[in-house]
Amino acid sequence: MAGEDHEPATEAAPTAEETFALVGNEVRAGILRTLSDARGGEGSPPSLSFSELRSRVDADVRSSQFNYHLQQLVGQFVEKRADGNAQLVEDVVDREDGGYALRPEGTMLTRTIRARTTGDESVDRLAVDLDCYHCGTPVEATYRNSIFKMQCPDCEYLYEYDLVPPGVLDDDERTLLSQVGEHQRHVRLSFARGACPLCGNAVGVRFVPPSDTGYPRPDLREACINRACDHCGHRNYLRVGEALLRDPALISFCHERGLDVTTTPIWELEFAATDRFTTVRSTDPWEVALCVSLDGVSASGAERSSADRSSGRGPREGDALELVVDEDLSVVERDDP
Ligand SMILES: [Zn+2]
Ligand SMILES: [Zn+2]
Repeated sequence: MAGEDHEPATEAAPTAEETFALVGNEVRAGILRTLSDARGGEGSPPSLSFSELRSRVDADVRSSQFNYHLQQLVGQFVEKRADGNAQLVEDVVDREDGGYALRPEGTMLTRTIRARTTGDESVDRLAVDLDCYHCGTPVEATYRNSIFKMQCPDCEYLYEYDLVPPGVLDDDERTLLSQVGEHQRHVRLSFARGACPLCGNAVGVRFVPPSDTGYPRPDLREACINRACDHCGHRNYLRVGEALLRDPALISFCHERGLDVTTTPIWELEFAATDRFTTVRSTDPWEVALCVSLDGVSASGAERSSADRSSGRGPREGDALELVVDEDLSVVERDDP
């Protein structure tokens, strides 16, 4: 948050319960929404006069009641500007002067709500153009209730199952899938690097045996890496290959062989989308190896034979990069070709 001068000088920070209670009112929610709408996504938050704000919110309450609700928000989500400049005025001044605008906290709140607000949009049978790395069956994908799901209809291996904000939706399926791929890489890399993608808090790391998770076909998984945020509650299970997409040696190894892992959707990276290149060396403490080989294998694994697929493992010989991580996800071995 920018500068301490944005902090109310005399009030303690509200608890999460107080914050929920504060915005859980139709008039107050309308005020925040209206101030967010006024911004229009560009420039600094504009200020609206009391009368203009009341007119736009169009709440069926008296002026004094509207002012009561407005003042409940002032100091935490809304600021009163004396003359159009962004500054916090804690005392209620002549309400026809200056105007009201979102504070940074109000901007964050309204952006979060907008990003996660769903209609009833759902998309069935997205054309993923991916054959399952385990069994070769065309993989299916859907978007319903803000959940993007990508799963093999035959062996049931789950490639993706995640909350994805409806901002990814587009009439063009290729655009939609591209946006999902970008969003998922952003989230997974943030978790992989140890920063919660929602709140920035440092996230913990814990290896979990696949059979202890609710994932279907745990026999097709080697290790699940649970990264959880104890501040906002966001969490994710990473595959070892996903956790290592941040590794410069892996990025370089793939790039030198014509594969850009910084732009390719994770589901098209077999070593990241599956555990077929992952070997658990120890579980107490956890030590896990990832062997990436691109010999004769396209990014999507399309050139792999069905015999290769059914063998349960990717290529392990020749031109390969092996990375070994400990249970803190630190790379403890790097075996470059
Ligand atoms: Zn399958
Ligand atoms: Zn968080």
